[in-house]
Amino acid sequence: MRIGRTLPPAATPLSLREILCGVRAFFSGDKALERFEEELKRYYDMPHVFLLSSGKAALAVILSALKETGAGRDEVLIPAYTCYSVPAAVVRAGLKVRPCDIDPRTLDFDWAKLEEALAGGRVLCAVSTHLFGLPADVERLRRAASRYGVAVVEDAAQAMGGEAGGRKLGTLGDVALFSLGRGKALSTVSGGIILTGDARLGAAIGRITGALPREGWIDGVTALCYALVLCVLVRPGLFWLPKALPFLGIGDTTFEPGFGIKRLGAFQAGLTLGWQDKLARMRAARLERAAVLERAGLEVPAPLGGALANLIRFPVLLEDGEQRRWLIEKSEAAGLGAATAYPDAVPNIPQLRGMAACAAPCAEQVAHRLVTIPLHPYVRMRDLEDLLGLVRESYRAR
Ligand SMILES: *Cc1c(COP(=O)(O)O)cnc(C)c1O
Repeated sequence: MRIGRTLPPAATPLSLREILCGVRAFFSGDKALERFEEELKRYYDMPHVFLLSSGKAALAVILSALKETGAGRDEVLIPAYTCYSVPAAVVRAGLKVRPCDIDPRTLDFDWAKLEEALAGGRVLCAVSTHLFGLPADVERLRRAASRYGVAVVEDAAQAMGGEAGGRKLGTLGDVALFSLGRGKALSTVSGGIILTGDARLGAAIGRITGALPREGWIDGVTALCYALVLCVLVRPGLFWLPKALPFLGIGDTTFEPGFGIKRLGAFQAGLTLGWQDKLARMRAARLERAAVLERAGLEVPAPLGGALANLIRFPVLLEDGEQRRWLIEKSEAAGLGAATAYPDAVPNIPQLRGMAACAAPCAEQVAHRLVTIPLHPYVRMRDLEDLLGLVRESYRAR
């Protein structure tokens, strides 16, 4: 166990001022929620915006709406390497997880395998994911999916504020979701957003969310406590403390389809006052750090190009699991915040065994070899130099 300066792998710091705005919103009815919703509609130029209790709740609602008009199709095509919340939301919506292997050079779908899966005739929708903020090729997926009448869900959970080819991420699919969870591009401790320009889908989602309960008193107070604790403990001078308490499960990835699905509470909406400026500031801070890492010539899994500014964590593909173990161990000892992402490919999630059978050797490779380097504002240039030194050393240590 390390006591002393420790960087979190991801952080979207909340200020005391923002927390006070949240508390004020908590006592002011729906005003903050309406403001945030209107601002999102304007920023994204989208007619239908819905605020949910989490990104996975947003995805479960989207899938339930698609299911209504899905003519008996029951499979959701997802990348075999993604956040475990994605298959959890599929199961929650009463649908079948259909993983498709990825291309380790882009972290996007393996297009040949995608075509095979689409041709099966059971796919309701396909989920395009901007992992770590790296833009997925949503256009290409749309072209393939449209031939089979399959809808495209854009999982922009990690990509709020991101752009690709001059277009905003979150506006490229038939419907999109963002997460406002901890460590995402913009965070309100917990929360999710749905965006769509599709009138029919918008109406179906509206009917579903209209029947959902709003987060109440207990949810609001819980979120406030989390916000206060995070505001203090996410600082590098104190982050060793929550990290040293194993029962908090910091950094653990679990598959948990039993999550709550509610409409977002007013406290979280209040935290977003001035979110456009904050998003821009956070992007600038991350870009400055990502540019340093890019110049160092690290082995990245995908061409970064214009996507550098979208990254919320910097992905590096190492040679093997042995090298990664070495690097993570050294980084932990020095408190530098290098971290793994998802522990295994989706078909290997124990609770999905047999239910989502699919050969996904590339997703497995990436799950075992990928490491992410933190880019948040607490990371100093000195930390990046130390991390770069460790990565270089890890090749020699193999
Ligand atoms: C975080 C995340 C989600 C789920 O969002 P929560 O707000 O944590 O429920 C979904 N997809 C991806 C890719 C994510 O990173």
